[in-house]
Amino acid sequence: MDNARTMAICLCCGDGLCAEDGGGSVGIDAISIVYDGIIFEATGNFGSTIFDPMARQEEEILQVVICDRCIKKNAKNVLHIKNIRRITKSEVGVFKIDD
Ligand SMILES: [Zn+2]
Repeated sequence: MDNARTMAICLCCGDGLCAEDGGGSVGIDAISIVYDGIIFEATGNFGSTIFDPMARQEEEILQVVICDRCIKKNAKNVLHIKNIRRITKSEVGVFKIDD
């Protein structure tokens, strides 16, 4: 099934972003590509009081979109984690934006 153009809403500022949905293969329109933003997906969190699906974590996720402007504006609060799969201890640092 082909992706279709749609609109995603930034979680932080509420602005609309051009996006493509995943084709609705499972009856939902999850965002597969967003332009001028980033897609974040969560399978749940043990400490959450609102979303912790436990064993069913591969069957459901939360998905949000945040626009590049909001990420750049709040870059000091973004962790940029590298080498997650290659080394035992990943590098964690503050997200830096190249101007
Ligand atoms: Zn935004």
